[in-house]
Amino acid sequence: MISEILINSALDVSMLTLNSNDLILKNKDEKFGQYLFKTKKEIMPNDSLEINFEFEYQITPINGHQSFNAIVDNGSLRISNYFPSIGYQLDHEISDEIERKKRAMAALPALDSVHAPIENPYNYQFINLNVLVSTSADQSAICVGELTDHYSINHRNYFHYRAENIPFRFAVSSAKYAIQKSNYGDVSIEIFHDPKHHQNISHLIKSIQKTLAYCENNFGKYPYQTVRFAEISSFTRGFAATAYPATIYINEKQFHLNLTGGEGQDVINELAGHELSHQWWGNALLKPVYRQGSGVLTETLAQYTQLMLYKNEYGEAKMLEMVEVYREMYESSKAFSGEEALYSADPDNANVINKGLVKMYELYLLIGEAKINAALRALLEASVSVEAGDYAGFVG
Ligand SMILES: [Zn+2]
Repeated sequence: MISEILINSALDVSMLTLNSNDLILKNKDEKFGQYLFKTKKEIMPNDSLEINFEFEYQITPINGHQSFNAIVDNGSLRISNYFPSIGYQLDHEISDEIERKKRAMAALPALDSVHAPIENPYNYQFINLNVLVSTSADQSAICVGELTDHYSINHRNYFHYRAENIPFRFAVSSAKYAIQKSNYGDVSIEIFHDPKHHQNISHLIKSIQKTLAYCENNFGKYPYQTVRFAEISSFTRGFAATAYPATIYINEKQFHLNLTGGEGQDVINELAGHELSHQWWGNALLKPVYRQGSGVLTETLAQYTQLMLYKNEYGEAKMLEMVEVYREMYESSKAFSGEEALYSADPDNANVINKGLVKMYELYLLIGEAKINAALRALLEASVSVEAGDYAGFVG
């Protein structure tokens, strides 16, 4: 039976309300965003209860902002990072040994680095998402999954999105978007962009179609009815693009790059190949628990797919150029990030991207594309059947 629930609020938002008809607030620590609730009735595992919350986010010049999650006027937000999370937060612990001694705290237990999952406040297994977003009359809101409905009331636009069996990770962008549509078979392709940034869109759509064709032929059916690419403000830093179920957000800097003036690298092809392949590697189809080595099943496999698509488009010589670019980044980052075996690499370490691409290229030379792809298809099929039968089996 569950008698107490600890809820955490993100530190860079102000929680205005956080309550539930089924809970009584016992204790709160606003400095660390900790709320301890007592349950009013007996709650058993798999029971459900409703929690209401409202938060406010403001960028101030004094406390700065997390540019990774920035909420801007005509742009985006990574909303799931601001949702209250449930349970004990390891990352609030004091890790400095001297500081712990000073406070007469016991030493932290040593973690078995390869076998212990890395603490993630949103390690909730898969969820069903049902989101209704409203925005101003001149903007469209983009979320993840399928758009099931949209309408306007009192000068606000409403967008209803649903997604089933997805990781707890979702985002919303809202902007004055222009839309360009196309398709691949029965999959609808939608590009939401700044009306001024239309230069690369037809090339992007072609790259999306080629990626869908490659991934469907080699790995299995695309799991949604829509592929949606949405441009977001360059104010959001820390990534060139990021993939969510059915939706990929691209930073405006990447979106309207001048492809003809560069060094002959087709960034749009790379970006579409890498990000769209995350629909197979790292979203709804294969979502490893965040832990040492898990980056191989997400970033390394997306890098491999990107590499194969590049080869198919531009040939072996161009592919080799790409391998050399990543080999250089891998060699030069060794001094900082160390030499980690991929199977036990920290998922945040650049090794899973840079070394990952180089090693997948070496594997390609050893056994060839067909054998690698057959193995990856089998891996996906095995993981999907595990999930469908028993989510709990997915956590190990
Ligand atoms: Zn990636």
